[in-house]
Amino acid sequence: MSNDIREVPGAFSTLSPDTLAVRAGIERSQFNEHAEALYLTSSFVFDSAAQAAARFGDKEEGNVYSRFTNPTVTALQTRLAALEGGERCIATSSGMAAILALSMAMLKAGDHIVASNGLFGSTVQLFANQLSKFAIETTFVPATDVAAYRAAVRPETKLFFVETPSNPITGIVDIAAVASIAHEAGAILAVDNCFCSPALQRPLALGADVVIHSATKYLDGQGRVLGGAVVGPKVITDEVFRFLRNAGPTLSPFNAWVILKGLETLRLRVEAQSENALRLARWLETRQGVSRVFYPGLPSHPQHDLAMRQQRLGGAVVSFEVEGGREAAWRVVDATRIISITGNLGDTKTTITHPASTTHGRITPEARAAAGITEGLLRIAVGLEAVEDLQADLARGLEG
Ligand SMILES: *Cc1c(COP(=O)(O)O)cnc(C)c1O
Repeated sequence: MSNDIREVPGAFSTLSPDTLAVRAGIERSQFNEHAEALYLTSSFVFDSAAQAAARFGDKEEGNVYSRFTNPTVTALQTRLAALEGGERCIATSSGMAAILALSMAMLKAGDHIVASNGLFGSTVQLFANQLSKFAIETTFVPATDVAAYRAAVRPETKLFFVETPSNPITGIVDIAAVASIAHEAGAILAVDNCFCSPALQRPLALGADVVIHSATKYLDGQGRVLGGAVVGPKVITDEVFRFLRNAGPTLSPFNAWVILKGLETLRLRVEAQSENALRLARWLETRQGVSRVFYPGLPSHPQHDLAMRQQRLGGAVVSFEVEGGREAAWRVVDATRIISITGNLGDTKTTITHPASTTHGRITPEARAAAGITEGLLRIAVGLEAVEDLQADLARGLEG
């Protein structure tokens, strides 16, 4: 096997992310294929009994079984670690599997989590209803209130978990400030970097210890597969690997191959989608019947300055509130002809969802209110269509 970057490994940081996005992680086989190879195999054979024993005993590096490692998955892990600027990346079968794997690797009964209240719905459920069964408690704090993170610290606090921009109203968590609170408490900070991707935001460089990804979103970017990742220092990711190896929510090589190809166009897609989102957000601000627009790239966003310090662009998610509550919001959704009505995001096809009745329908009305999710709120994840077509699609429902 030969490495595609004909320099010493570890020289990654001297190369531009644009170069890493298309080249990092390629290890060519005996056939010298140009594109990344897809190794659809569950297991690997050994030259001898002695080699089998050495591989199983971790005395010799090499693949054994695809629940542990697979060359296509390894290529994706190397590329994503390079893009996030982390020591090691462990890929998982989904974004939720990444969050579970991190939790199982780093926490034990009696430990405590401080989490933002602006998290993905399933993350809230995992912390509040699943980990609680193993005596791991979570305190949820207002996403943007730095003092609240500090006030929630207990002697048993081991993990801080945030998402920024937060879902769905794009609150910005000050990563550097929360990282220093976590470190003072002897805990680690994990940032779910799904909304921005490394094309716009690199949490590790801002002081976070771990980055979580749902690769299902912008990393694949074309709505084809599920996947996830944990990126960070080896002291954390080696432990995540051990959990994965024993428990099994590993990424399939096929999905790894699809996501690898997605990474090659990540920056181009995310920048174009952010550009579209900014234009759509500006247009929404001028519409009758729209009472508020939430978009970090707008000067009217209460944390615009912080957002522009920690991320390169506003991202592709725009939320807005219509006058007239659920009825008016549903009218906008139902009048669309191009935009897909789905809770998913991170796709080149624009999607729309009414969070209060879908993605955030299962949390309590009090928790919904605390997270700013009103009945008139809509969330759009902007894709690559022409903005004029998206405007026409929304104008129909807004004009009723
Ligand atoms: C989708 C999503 C997840 C979960 O990822 P899956 O791949 O669906 O398991 C986690 N965090 C955020 C911010 C998400 O959008």
